Amino acid sequence: MTRKAKLKRLGLFGGTFNPIHYGHLRTAEETAEALNLDQLWFIPAAHPPHKAPEAVTSFEVRLEMTRLAVGRHPVLKVSDLEGRRPGKSFTIDTLRHLRARLGREAELYYILGLDAILEIHTWKDYRELFTLCHFVVLDRPGYDRGHLQEFLRQEIHKDFQDLPQGGGYLHPSGYQVLFQHTTLMDISATQIRRLVRSGRSVRYLLPEPVRRYILQNRLYLSG
Ligand code: ATP
Repeated sequence: MTRKAKLKRLGLFGGTFNPIHYGHLRTAEETAEALNLDQLWFIPAAHPPHKAPEAVTSFEVRLEMTRLAVGRHPVLKVSDLEGRRPGKSFTIDTLRHLRARLGREAELYYILGLDAILEIHTWKDYRELFTLCHFVVLDRPGYDRGHLQEFLRQEIHKDFQDLPQGGGYLHPSGYQVLFQHTTLMDISATQIRRLVRSGRSVRYLLPEPVRRYILQNRLYLSG
């Protein structure tokens, strides 16, 4: 089988991953299982559009931590795609590229937290995103799903339809915005960076090889 034929159902989990933590990993594991994904790719942003370059750890370091976290998982994988493109890492460019590369028969699911989708109107060509793939929304402590329907209808497309049983919304393109219930974990990369900076433990918030890498490379001690 060709690579193209194997990847029928592909999850795409973009982010800064500075660093990757169990809030990303466990939700990815549960989503991949629930949606029966063939693969789920973590795609670290090389040049996150919304962050000042000097405020973000280098792409190579974030990529390495993501690889250490995932190891040889049969379904979860790490993609360096955005590192191979010059300029800012816009999700629309990644989705257009993967659509062209994998063909229409591949079902693409872009996975993101509720906090992220509620800011999607600040992303490049954000309305087009919903015409390229399904979106899978993960709950995040402190964020309320209740506003999403109104937000999508106001900012993205007025004709979003409700899916049965409150499962999400259907865009006129045929792609869906799906809710995925996953274990709620109040973990953020910001919290981890803060803990490291103040000399406190980050054990059990992220995989042990990533914790060791952070300490060995003296990451997050300033800033
Ligand atoms: P930071 O604190 O630096 O902003 P972060 O922890 O939010 O980082 P990102 O790399 O910015 O992590 O997030 C990538 C994606 O993962 C986003 O869509 C975000 O909503 C989602 N995400 C991050 N942490 C969690 C979590 N604990 N539970 C569910 N989704 C999460």
